[in-house]
Amino acid sequence: MRRKLVAGNWKMHGNLVENEQLLNAIVTSLDELRNAQFAVCVPFPYLPSVQSALKPTNIIWGAQNVSQYEKGAYTGEVSASMLNDFGCTFVIVGHSERRSLFGEDNHTVAQKYIAAQRAGLMPILCVGETLEQREAGTTEQIIKEQLAAVINVAGVESVGKAVIAYEPVWAIGTGKTASPQQAQDVHAFIRSGIEAQNINIARELTILYGGSVKANNASELFAMPDIDGGLIGGASLIADDFIAICRALSN
Ligand code: PEP
Repeated sequence: MRRKLVAGNWKMHGNLVENEQLLNAIVTSLDELRNAQFAVCVPFPYLPSVQSALKPTNIIWGAQNVSQYEKGAYTGEVSASMLNDFGCTFVIVGHSERRSLFGEDNHTVAQKYIAAQRAGLMPILCVGETLEQREAGTTEQIIKEQLAAVINVAGVESVGKAVIAYEPVWAIGTGKTASPQQAQDVHAFIRSGIEAQNINIARELTILYGGSVKANNASELFAMPDIDGGLIGGASLIADDFIAICRALSN
């Protein structure tokens, strides 16, 4: 059975008081939902408090970035084993904001993915095209390259211990969502690319859609056969919206 998952990406938002209110609200509502998994990926400093708040619940947590290095003189970096110390299940790698604002290329993303898995974390590997690339008709080529950069070094078997998130860059934080069919087409493309290498891993692979998923469009996106859930930015900071999105998957 494919894992169904909604993961919130808090980005660089929150504080101790707001986080507590948000988590209290989502824990109360999501505790009764059983046929999907729910997660929040939070800023590093909040991992201890998020761990304490979520440990007794069915909600899991993770981080938004990880160093590609195991340890050493890398000032300001956070290693995968450090994330493990705080009970993380997931870590987002290759988010388009990391790629475009912090210069992470496909090679670095692959190294981070490997570092995460080596420490027992499940990477949520983000791929997606820019508007220019979509308009130039190169969406599939871009996605293929982004996936190949990881699979060529980590092997297709590694995908069995990862989640892939298709996040068209033009839809992230813009309020423009890919139509369910546009998203489904790319998800099917991703799954068939993996299927050509390993049919069982492709069938079990969780592929999330991310990009302006809101309470009012989640159900139609999640109804598509190759969309197994969502990676949620802005709407994951608003308890009612996040809960509604989680319910849309769990239905
Ligand atoms: C994201 O940050 O991964 C994301 C999808 O953001 P938003 O939902 O705000 O578009």
